[in-house]
Amino acid sequence: MTDSPPIDRALQAPGATASVATPYRTHTCGQLRATDAGASARLAGWVHRRRDHGHLVFLDLRDRYGITQVVVNEDEAPRAHKVASRTRSEFVVTAEGTVAARLPGTENDRLATGAIELRTTDLQILSESKTPPFYINEPDAPIDESLRLKYRYLDLRREPMQQRLLLRGRLVQAIREVHHAHAFVEVETPDLIKSTPEGARDFIVPSRLQPGSVYALPQSPQQLKQLLMVAGMDRYFQIARCFRDEDLRGDRQPEFTQLDLEMSFVDEAAVMAFVEQMAIEVSAAAVPDRPLQAAPFPRFTYAEAMERFGTDKPDVRFGMELIDLGPALERSGGSAASGFRVFDDALAAGGRVMAVVAPRMADATRSRIDELVDQARRFGAKGLAHVAVNSSGTPSSPIAKFLGEESIGAIVSVSGAEAGDLVLMVADTPPIALDVLGHLRTELATRLQLADPNVLAYCWVHRFPMYQWDAELGRWDATHNPFSGVLPEDEPLLATLSGDSMRPSPDDPAGRARAMQYDLVLNGWELGGGSVRIHRRDLLEQSFALQGHSLEAMQEKFGALMRAFEYGAPPHGGIAIGIDRWAALLAHQDNIREVMAFPKTQSGSDLMLEAPSPPDPGQWAELGLRFVGASGERNR
Ligand code: ASP
Repeated sequence: MTDSPPIDRALQAPGATASVATPYRTHTCGQLRATDAGASARLAGWVHRRRDHGHLVFLDLRDRYGITQVVVNEDEAPRAHKVASRTRSEFVVTAEGTVAARLPGTENDRLATGAIELRTTDLQILSESKTPPFYINEPDAPIDESLRLKYRYLDLRREPMQQRLLLRGRLVQAIREVHHAHAFVEVETPDLIKSTPEGARDFIVPSRLQPGSVYALPQSPQQLKQLLMVAGMDRYFQIARCFRDEDLRGDRQPEFTQLDLEMSFVDEAAVMAFVEQMAIEVSAAAVPDRPLQAAPFPRFTYAEAMERFGTDKPDVRFGMELIDLGPALERSGGSAASGFRVFDDALAAGGRVMAVVAPRMADATRSRIDELVDQARRFGAKGLAHVAVNSSGTPSSPIAKFLGEESIGAIVSVSGAEAGDLVLMVADTPPIALDVLGHLRTELATRLQLADPNVLAYCWVHRFPMYQWDAELGRWDATHNPFSGVLPEDEPLLATLSGDSMRPSPDDPAGRARAMQYDLVLNGWELGGGSVRIHRRDLLEQSFALQGHSLEAMQEKFGALMRAFEYGAPPHGGIAIGIDRWAALLAHQDNIREVMAFPKTQSGSDLMLEAPSPPDPGQWAELGLRFVGASGERNR
């Protein structure tokens, strides 16, 4: 059994100065120190562990703030001793006594209160507990997750979960403080609204007062926050709950929390500058011991991020950037030919030959290389070629006979591979070559442990393409949200488009327009994204039209916003940052369920509350609804 790690009270109650004293307790279980010896105190909490030595019973008493050892001596307190003998793990008790320094040699430096114990004169059981379904006092014991979710209130008593929820609390507290200091107003927007599309399905809530009509739960407060800018709130933020009815892949949850903010009279640079400063201050407050990799945060245009890292959410804690071998191969092979058909064909067809250098992997076994090739194929490549540079600096490759010495030499020198390194190469269309190597880069870095797990490497990716061509529907789609504005210098690219007369085609210059859109990335995860918005109605109409929406459809969906834009909308922009994801990364977790108090399962169930559940038959009628089951059977 492991003892709980020492608990830092300052972190447990950030900024709290008030006493927690009540008739049940004078101090918390994390508060008493050697300097309190001789004082009398009353504590309340859960029995974390109980050791019965006959006439001496030791209770480790636990609350959110820590653990204190309580000693009950049969000779000194016979009644309390009787009560102590009845206690079991997780009973809730209150104990009064005298604080005493522990005997030399019996101190526990793993506990913040480890220098003292409470010699009890009075002990009372406040409530009893059944034997819990899992150990609460063993932080590292593996527990089946569905059991944890069913008894989440017990799971949350466990030290690791306490620490994570407290960290999340500090994160949100710091977010609020920084925003208030920068003149932001916290405004709550409603949860019963009309659809704000963020690309997912809405959760809908039938209206009782208006039978046949529904509300949508917000996928985000996007339209409302823009309306708050029209309303003159200038700077808004909210810790907003968002709902998206998606198939739950990976770590998605049907409801999640965003830091949602919007600012007036800003350009891209102003929003990014505030958010960056906020992220720096919030990180320092929430996880003071985790260093930032760099501040100011590196900024990459979307095109640059794709070119250098093969992804729009690069992990910049390590290098291993992608290398373009095309020009060097063309030179070394002469007349646009490296000598290797796969490479030459790709280049001739306008494709790319790109590489990534895996450090210290030159002596990878045949099966390890095969594994990498399989991986590359799963990511979409046709194959994966390699050149190994041995410890004395000599390159070798299964394709050396095709490439020839000169091309191999060019690959080694352009890629910068050193003795002991392995150069991995993909020849394909540009998006596939970049994407495959981007994936391999992160895979290899994980395996080779290239990233410092403690460092926080924030970066920005911005200037995304405004539109992507949807070949199936024959129209352009906004890559982010349809309200995003185009970079001022790219606005002329939209000039050819005008309202209804427009016929979108994949060759439209508009396809090259870049959005004033930015994503904040942390250690290879997208934390959030936002944009400077279109604030003029005519431009908004133009943007929607480009995406094939009729004026009527726009009015139906975004009527409020479009009307509001007729009454003086300030230039504005904002961002939303996933709090669950942020908290997970700060807590070294890769699953957001680990930083949510009451998350749902992959199938969207709350195992503790047993939701969702069928409504009462009366509720159907009241809502004017009839249920047609999978079998087509109707409810009453
Ligand atoms: N509403 C957007 C989202 O949820 C964020 C933003 O553009 O502010 O992704």
